[in-house]
This record gives sequence, C-alpha cells and structure tokens, in this order.
Amino acid sequence: SSPWSQFEMAPTDPIVGLNEIYNKDDFPSKVIVGVGAYRDDLGKPYVLPCVREAEQILMDKNLDMEYTGIAGEPKFVDLALKFVYGEDSVPIQENRVHGVQALSGTGGLRVFGELMAKHGHKHIYVPNPTWGNHIPIFTNSGLEVRKYRYYDAESSDLDFTNMMKDIKDMPKGSLILLHACAHNPTGMDPTMEQWKEMSETIKKQGLVPFFDCAYQGFASGDPVKDASSVRMFVEDGHLISMVQSFSKNFGLYGQRIGALSVVGADEDEAKRVVSQMKMVIRPMYSNPPRQGARIVTTILEDPRLTQDFLDQCRGMADRINLMRTLLQDKLAEAGSTKNWDHITKQIGMFAYSGLNKDQVMEMREKHHVYCTADGRISMAGVTSGNVDYIANAIHDVSK
Ligand code: PMP
Repeated sequence: SSPWSQFEMAPTDPIVGLNEIYNKDDFPSKVIVGVGAYRDDLGKPYVLPCVREAEQILMDKNLDMEYTGIAGEPKFVDLALKFVYGEDSVPIQENRVHGVQALSGTGGLRVFGELMAKHGHKHIYVPNPTWGNHIPIFTNSGLEVRKYRYYDAESSDLDFTNMMKDIKDMPKGSLILLHACAHNPTGMDPTMEQWKEMSETIKKQGLVPFFDCAYQGFASGDPVKDASSVRMFVEDGHLISMVQSFSKNFGLYGQRIGALSVVGADEDEAKRVVSQMKMVIRPMYSNPPRQGARIVTTILEDPRLTQDFLDQCRGMADRINLMRTLLQDKLAEAGSTKNWDHITKQIGMFAYSGLNKDQVMEMREKHHVYCTADGRISMAGVTSGNVDYIANAIHDVSK
C-alpha cells in the first residue's frame, strides 16, 4: 500500500487559489482583482525601472553565489531598518535596533511567531479582520491567535471605540499585531491622533506592540509618511518589533525579501534577541536568498537610484488612487445609488467593497470578475481599460 494513501486533498488557498479558478475561465473579458500584486494600466506585472537598473549593476559585478549568513546581508538589514525607522531615529543612533533579513513579510512573521512562542508568549492579538495568512502563520508558530475589533462592516469604517475597549481588556504583556499602514484587507488606517491614543493605551496596558509593515510607500506614495505610526511608537518609547516586506513597494514579490527587527532597551539586548532569531532560522531554512537583498541594497545605497525608487513607488500609489476615484465615479455612472465613499477613503492596495459572499460569487459567475470571498478588491488590478466593466458588475450584484 502507498504511504500517501491517507493524504486527503487540501483545500485551495482562499487568495492564491483564486488564480486557479480564474485561469480556468475562458471568458474573454474576465477580470481578476484578487491577489495583492501591482499591475500597470495595461494589467501587466510591473518591474520598477530602478530594480532593472540595479540588476544590471549587479550583473556587471560578477558576484559569487556563496551562502550569506543566517541573518542575511548585513548591509541590506542596516539600510532596511533606516528605511522604516528613519536615519535620525534615536534608537537607530544609539545602535539598539537590530534585525535579520527575512523571507519577505511571511517568513519574518513566521520566525517572529516561533521566536515569541519559544520565549514564553502564549498568544497574539490580531485585528479583525486581518490578512488571512496571519492566523495560520501564528497558529503554526505555536501561538493562540486572538482577535481585537477593528472594522465596522455596517458603516465601512474603523471601529475605533471598540478597538480601544478591546485593547484595554488585553492582559499585560500580550503581543499585539498592528498593521503599520494600508491595513489589509480593509484599507482603513487609524488617524495620527488615533495612533497616539493607541500608543498611550498600549503603553499603559504594558502590551508588546509588533508591526507588520507590508505596504510602506504604497499607502500615501511616500515611505516616510507611511512609517509615521511606527516612528511615533518608537518616539513614545515602545520597544517595538517589526516585520518589513519589500514585495509591494519595490515590486520584488518573488524575490522574497524582507526584514525582521527589534528595538532593544540597549544595544546588547537588541543583539541578544537577534541571536535568538538566528536560532529559529538556522534549522528552519539556514539562510535567506541573496538577490533581493542585493537589489534593495544597490538602490538604497545610491541617492539617485533611491530618488528613482521614490518616484516610481509614488507612481504606483498614484495610479491606484486614480483608479479608486474612477471606480467610485463609474459606480455612480452605472446608476448605483449606494454610498461608495469608502472606496476613496480607504488606502493602500485594497478596496474592502462591502460586497457579501453571495454577491462575490454572483459577480464571478455572471460577470467573470474575481475578487476574494470577503469582497476585497485589489485596486492594483483595476485599469482604465476594465474599470467600467468592474463598476457595472459591482453595481449589478449590489443593486
Ligand atoms: N503582511 C501583510 C499585511 C500582507 O498584506 C502581506 C502580503 N499580502 C504580507 C504580510 C506578506 O507578503 P510577503 O510575504 O510577500 O512579503
């Protein structure tokens, strides 16, 4: 008998699996607004020109393919941390922010989960809703996943009052995950005043804030502005930890490049935490791949390439915002009398449309428009060529 006979077919991933369903559909004007990956206005994947240039520079250097260290490329980590905390950040200046290169956001989250489970943490609070993968990542890490209220589906708005209530109920020492900007899937972020209140309460409660920063530069178009929540918490004296992803802002999805970092009370403490991250990484995947780190390093160590990156990143954010406005206008043109203001109020890659599961399924079957079951529309897949079609489909299933 086969050793594999008892293996059942696993369900397809709710987000990634959408591509498979879409690929099977042979309707000519089918549209997918599922996975969060940027597309240009022709609907094609986009490689930033600064990334192409960095690749060429690297090619000309004839670099070897040796292993990097367990913690990855030190220069990359240094630049990545400055990119989010800011060069003039006090703990950066005091050399008490340290980290490792990570297998993008996902890998950094997994290492973090296991690190914290190994060091006495039993649970982590995540917003409800949150990026779907957070839940299995932390469960597989050995943490119990608890939810705090974040979004009010009724009003398509942040549920700030209830979020604060839930934060006040969290036991001292609890881990709390915060989306640094462009909350996935709702696209709804706290205002700076609200972040301030959260920072104060989280401190008063003695909680341990952990930031997931997957869209720095994608929310406002400006990576410095998008790091405001993180920088405020650090200025307020929180000893935060954070995972960064370079998938979206640098368009390096398949390169799997990110960083996991921690702010320590002093240099020695931060280094001790990093040494424990390495203990998690070594038996998990030994060391990370090099090319993505080399590309980001090449860009961020060169002022001109950095400026090009800033311009190109803003270009992506601007196109998405233009599509938000267009989609809202087209819904009105299509005759929808519903309130779609949240489409332009939300930021980042997604529009949390408010369509329910039945409407999502109807939109797939009748119109061949594919978004995730929670009604999340990846605005990065909306183009001037398909926005009318999408607006009509949304209107048809929601009227
Ligand atoms: N965190 C959040 C909130 C995300 O939306 C994503 C990407 N969908 C990630 C982490 C991880 O993405 P990656 O592993 O490509 O960096």
